[in-house]
Amino acid sequence: MPAVLPRSLFLLLQVASQEAAPDVEAYRETFRKVVRESLARGEAYSKLERLCSVAPLRLSGSPGAAAAVEWAKEAMKRDGLENVRLEPVTVPRWERGAVAELRILAPPGAVGESLPILALGGSVGTPPEGIEAAILEVKSFEELRSLGEAAKGRIVLFNRPMDPSLPDSFEAYGGAVDQRGRGAIEAARAGGLAALVRSVTPGIDDFPHTGAMHYEEAVAKVPSAAVSTRGAERLAALLREGKEVRARLRLDCRDAGEGIGHNVLGELVGRERPGEIVLAGGHLDAWDVGHGAHDDGAGCCQSIEAVRLLRALDLRPRRTIRIVLFANEENGLRGARAYRAAHEKELPDHVLAFESDRGGFTPRGFTTNASGRGLEILRALGRLLEEAGAGEIRPGGGGADVSVLERDGIPLAGLLPDRQRYFDLHHSARDTIDAVHPRELNLGAGAMAAFLHAVADLPERLPRNERARRP
Ligand SMILES: [Zn+2]
Repeated sequence: MPAVLPRSLFLLLQVASQEAAPDVEAYRETFRKVVRESLARGEAYSKLERLCSVAPLRLSGSPGAAAAVEWAKEAMKRDGLENVRLEPVTVPRWERGAVAELRILAPPGAVGESLPILALGGSVGTPPEGIEAAILEVKSFEELRSLGEAAKGRIVLFNRPMDPSLPDSFEAYGGAVDQRGRGAIEAARAGGLAALVRSVTPGIDDFPHTGAMHYEEAVAKVPSAAVSTRGAERLAALLREGKEVRARLRLDCRDAGEGIGHNVLGELVGRERPGEIVLAGGHLDAWDVGHGAHDDGAGCCQSIEAVRLLRALDLRPRRTIRIVLFANEENGLRGARAYRAAHEKELPDHVLAFESDRGGFTPRGFTTNASGRGLEILRALGRLLEEAGAGEIRPGGGGADVSVLERDGIPLAGLLPDRQRYFDLHHSARDTIDAVHPRELNLGAGAMAAFLHAVADLPERLPRNERARRP
């Protein structure tokens, strides 16, 4: 209970807010219209086809990232978004290079076998002749530490799979991805020469999955690569035979300094309260394998499409819907931080910060960190999407980019698509346009459009999150 309110007044307010259930009935017909329009004439998928052909590789600071920015700006203008503009962001530049090789040198029965790997984003390369060493397999950082000197001079293989028993694959991902982020640091601390990380994906296949990794100032920088799950299983099987397994790792990736990227912004200006902003978006950068179709071309195209749909149906909400396609989510979050810095004065007038960054699969509903009255309102809106199968409201954040705005008290939300297939493709060569289903993607855009329109249009403004940390 807030200390400033007398207890009686607080109780009265509480009762009042319980009594007035959010009335969203007026939006039922709008929701139906928007969803049907998105299924019948939606253009999220055709936009994504275009993005994946114009700029399939869009890692920060690359020519592909610049081409994607140019495409997004034009796509927004074509779709009738207002105040379309670019905002500069200083981004890291990391180059994958052409060499990524892991070759087995021992035991004799496996000599010459080559396992599929991808350098992890941010990794240093190896010397040109590579690193030759015995492989040590561990399942956790604790296990590595408990082994004392055993990792000295070795290539450390972090081989803990995603927990297959968890219904929420994002939770399983969260339980395994520390190996990718910190594997190189922990390997170097233990005296290892390199870190190999089992790809963070639930299946067993030959596709390595890349992703961001980090170094610490005081710890030696050793190379780090993801090995396919079948490759990791192969190494583990050889080690189970009790023989020494030696391999040569070669990577020619490198840090290429910094470059300039851009956030891309466009709006549907509110008809009554244009200064109040419902932010929605995705990230335009993607890893340099596959097309970044689900991650996050899908979210970017759904965001632009949400505004196009509303315009096509002549639905201009009370408040402004601002679309932001962020730069550099994958290896830095610099776009999100630049947005926050550039728009600091407007943040008190941000009503919601929404992101679609969980793939373009069948929409089930939304995640949100809103609580109390805000959560009640979003739940009521969710119920209007039940007939489209997208009515679920689950606790959670919005996405990595909008999470930067959490401390400002802005409620966050995200599109919640079906969760079972995303990590099969995520950050791998399989994340291509043909892995996206047109109706699923368009339905997601429609659900987003209806939801964002209502949040931006409701007479009652969504309350801020009181418990936010203050900067
Ligand atoms: Zn993403």
